[in-house]
Amino acid sequence: MKSQYRVVVIGGGVVGASVLYHLARYGWTDVCLIERDVLTAGSSWHAAGGFHALNADPNIAALQGYTIDLLSEVEAESGQSIGMHMTGGMHLAGTPDRWEWLQANYRTFQSIGIDDVHLITPDEAAQLSPVLNTEGILGGMWADREGYVDTTGTVHAYAIAAKKRGAEVIEKNRVLELHQVPGGWQVVTEQGTVSCEHVVNAGGLWAKQVGRMAGVELPVSPLAHHYLITDTIPQLQGLERELPMCVDLEGFTYSRQDQQGMLVGIYELTPKHWMMDGAPWNYGIELLQEEPDRIESELCHVFKRFPVLESVGVKTWVHGAFTFSPDGNPLVGPVRGKPGYWCACAVMAGFLQGGGVGKSLAEWMIHGETEADVFGMDVARYGDYAANKTYIRETTGQFYSRRFVMTYPNEQLPAGRPLKMAPAHDAMRAAGARWGESWGLEVPLYFAPEGFEEHPSLRRSNAFDLVAQEVRATREAVGLLDISGFSRFEVTGPEAAAWLDHLLAGRLPGPGRTRLAPMLSPSGRLKGDLTVFNWGDGIWWIMGSYYLREWHMRWFADHARPGVALRDISDAVVGFSLSGPNSRRVLEQLTEGPISELPFMGCGRFDIGLIRAHVGRLSVSGALGYEINCTAAEHVALRRMLLAAGADLGIREIGYEALGSLRLEKSFGIWSREFTQIYTPAQTGMDRWIDWSKEFFGSDAARAERDGNGPARVIATLAIDAEDADASGYEPVWQGDRLAGYVTSGGYGHSVGRSLAMAMLDREAANVGTDLTVHVVGKARAARVIAPSPYDPQGKAMRA
Ligand SMILES: Cc1cc2nc3c(=O)[nH]c(=O)nc-3n(C[C@H](O)[C@H](O)[C@H](O)COP(=O)(O)OP(=O)(O)OC[C@H]3O[C@@H](n4cnc5c(N)ncnc54)[C@H](O)[C@@H]3O)c2cc1C
Repeated sequence: MKSQYRVVVIGGGVVGASVLYHLARYGWTDVCLIERDVLTAGSSWHAAGGFHALNADPNIAALQGYTIDLLSEVEAESGQSIGMHMTGGMHLAGTPDRWEWLQANYRTFQSIGIDDVHLITPDEAAQLSPVLNTEGILGGMWADREGYVDTTGTVHAYAIAAKKRGAEVIEKNRVLELHQVPGGWQVVTEQGTVSCEHVVNAGGLWAKQVGRMAGVELPVSPLAHHYLITDTIPQLQGLERELPMCVDLEGFTYSRQDQQGMLVGIYELTPKHWMMDGAPWNYGIELLQEEPDRIESELCHVFKRFPVLESVGVKTWVHGAFTFSPDGNPLVGPVRGKPGYWCACAVMAGFLQGGGVGKSLAEWMIHGETEADVFGMDVARYGDYAANKTYIRETTGQFYSRRFVMTYPNEQLPAGRPLKMAPAHDAMRAAGARWGESWGLEVPLYFAPEGFEEHPSLRRSNAFDLVAQEVRATREAVGLLDISGFSRFEVTGPEAAAWLDHLLAGRLPGPGRTRLAPMLSPSGRLKGDLTVFNWGDGIWWIMGSYYLREWHMRWFADHARPGVALRDISDAVVGFSLSGPNSRRVLEQLTEGPISELPFMGCGRFDIGLIRAHVGRLSVSGALGYEINCTAAEHVALRRMLLAAGADLGIREIGYEALGSLRLEKSFGIWSREFTQIYTPAQTGMDRWIDWSKEFFGSDAARAERDGNGPARVIATLAIDAEDADASGYEPVWQGDRLAGYVTSGGYGHSVGRSLAMAMLDREAANVGTDLTVHVVGKARAARVIAPSPYDPQGKAMRA
């Protein structure tokens, strides 16, 4: 072991080994991996080694695809066998809903270019797996690239391939302490102290403690998990080909052949956490005592699905532990305030996801950003609230027990809720608010009469008419929306304007004005779709998406400069928006200030009733609109006053479902849909807001894009001939038989009376009038490109 490396990776499981390999592969060879015991000594040695295609986040599904392709490459490069069995695999559906869900998912795979997947009939499933009882099965989804590997061989293959490229692996050496020092980290180990620029927490079952060594509380916990391997099954002996991987979506089990027996793994409904503060340091290569009683009902189900299991004994029980984050996806990337400290943990399926995690982390460290959109596994998608132990217990338990359960787009899950509530929450609840959740905050989705219950559905739900009424009220009178679920950052100091001018690609607003402000990365890709306010008194606000608070704070912190103070004031400042033709008249009743003179995109301080409010005239709905910001202590009073003043003007409380429809009718994009960290300004129309006369972060790349041949794909608006379901995101869009792109968001435009979508399309398919086809809930629907903003294309309403 040397005394200095560029990077020290802590942990020799499949994830640490993959990170090491990718760093070396991309040219950083002054790197070492330090392992407490021997390689694989955490979760990795006793994993079932399975890999399969499905993931609820298509970006992560794509990275899983990368891992699967990589495995054989690493085997060849290392010369170490990984025991690859590419058996293919299937997911089976036994209810009409789930069958429909699989058909919709199949189309999502097509959207993201995974083309080795197809739907199968129950008979085809039986032919592929002759010991399968297909009673009750309605259909399945088959993927060629599913199978399993030898877990120990795979970890060693990554490590050997990394070593061949110059990396070092040091075993039997526990990392004891981490110290942040100028330019990097000091890593105190049993064998001495090492200095490095970057340290990676790939601690697996010990990730919690390796986080705490650096003062980082990670939202991660191990959970216990069973699989069993049976004795020899005579019926398997004469088979021509190995049984495929099989996930029974109703049965909470996965299975495959293991030599002449079968391996069956269970995601039981009664999950069990294990060592929530991390495994003991002396935890060896050992197993937990099996608990068959806890998984009895799931086992009964799998016995029915594979009757051959009923008459065969269990050869091996494996009851081990591995780690989960609240949404089950990994925690990867740098941590705010800890330069050079990187996470590569909470990887729940290391053999499936480890390659994608290693690739992304190495790209991020070396190039400053990843090739793919990895927000779904970015450690900064959570804030400090998520490190609460009860929150972790509830959310990780929920994820585990729903591992194979379909989640509907309109379904609200209960774990970790309610946590954060705007002050007017109870009053809104009394008025019928039904809630969604954003970064721990309860946000109103729509308002419903007492006793109303929304049914989870891939189709239009029974809340459709309620949302339609809220949209109508907004277009015809005035809608009142709680906007506590926006993020707000206050920027002050002598250098504030200069800093903002460089950070944001748009022209800064003058005093008393606000502007849309794209923020770019050095490579010219989007980093934010923000709104900047110049209050005229030296105070600036940046507003964005609430769930990106930590993500944006990390970016701001990385680019901090002296003379600028930045505060996240999102919990201190809340508010309501008014949208609709009557919104000005509501405010006029509450203020003597010159509210009617406030221009579109103007902002200023107004006395609104009793409240000294910050008011901006802007509109996500495309209607005449105002955002009224107040302190948290004034939220209840503000709502009460606005409702009273609007009583005779048709005011109606609305939720974010209505806003979704309203903004779609205006072709206004939102983050994570039309705007993501892998799209560029020209692709998304954000270039409209760029100030080309100045130098800003990412300006060289943005100019190169502007002066080039134009992006291959752009955002367009579609009208879809839908019946009882609308697009929701990632549906494939076809021009004839050719895949021309995918839907970024979709829904019903209640005031224009048609099903709408926004889509990322090949440029030649994005011309207005182009006829296309979109698969909505698995069914082909005619669609055509329409001009942006089907409602009020000239924007007269919001400028009125
Ligand atoms: C029963 C079971 C079945 C599974 N089946 C599958 C499957 O079919 N497919 C799949 O993809 N995944 C499966 N998994 C999950 C898989 O095992 C994990 O996702 C994977 O092993 C995580 O790898 P890791 O490198 O993050 O963590 P680990 O394997 O836990 O590795 C972490 C390493 O860090 C070391 N370490 C920690 N702290 C320190 C320190 N301070 N100093 C030095 N070293 C340290 C540890 O000793 C350990 O070796 C299964 C897991 C279990 C338990």
